[in-house]
Amino acid sequence: MKTFAIALLGLLMTIQPLKATNQPEKPIVIILLGAPGSGKGTQAVELGQAFHIPHISTGDLLRENIKNNTALGQQAKSYMDKGQLTPDELILDILFERISKPDCSRGYLLDGFPRTSAQAHELEDSLRDKVQFAVFYLKVSDEQVIERLSGRLICKKCNRIFHKTSNPPKQEGICDSCGGELYQRSDDKPEVIQERLRVYHEQTKPLEEFYRKQGVLNEVDASGTSGDVLKTLEAKISELHPALSTSKI
Ligand code: AMP
Repeated sequence: MKTFAIALLGLLMTIQPLKATNQPEKPIVIILLGAPGSGKGTQAVELGQAFHIPHISTGDLLRENIKNNTALGQQAKSYMDKGQLTPDELILDILFERISKPDCSRGYLLDGFPRTSAQAHELEDSLRDKVQFAVFYLKVSDEQVIERLSGRLICKKCNRIFHKTSNPPKQEGICDSCGGELYQRSDDKPEVIQERLRVYHEQTKPLEEFYRKQGVLNEVDASGTSGDVLKTLEAKISELHPALSTSKI
């Protein structure tokens, strides 16, 4: 009996540390950082489907507000048309409202947020210790940005992104995925593209250093095909958060 009790105690002692390491993983917050046209939107759509987590684009949320003619949309439009950033307080409100929804409980992908140091600090202050951050900096040259944005076409219905020459839809003007109508964004005009790039270098690029210092930055060469970039991102995310890749909704 005594031997049995000692053996049982020994077994329990070996099980205890195992339990500690089997704690459920925290929700993952994937931040796609990079210049306009670096492929954040394209990759976020694919990654959201692959990992069954929502893709949250602050640009899409603002365009939705403009379409519905809300007060927020009216305020944001004047900044967006000029290629400038919408004030932090407007963006923070819509972002925090969106990430509080139940579909974000396992994690989510942020595309186009944060874009300023104030936004990055707000996110960090409210989510620190509650989530696991993974930041991917998609690196492309300014020349590539200009080439990509000036030929970009977007689906009105599902937001899938095409390019007039490098990734054309099978049927002109029609989305391959959902049959929606394709359009060119009004801020993808040459003079607005230049301003968006300037704003990016001034206000968003410094976030690369912010996340590097925190040890959560992953640099990805995003100059290749979207398929190659996707493979790199998928592999890295599966490695960082193994439960995400295997779980289903
Ligand atoms: P995007 O679709 O991400 O290229 O964003 C289009 C425009 O929406 C930007 O040029 C900004 O005017 C505005 N916008 C989107 N996200 C943000 C953000 N996080 N902070 C400020 N403005 C934003």
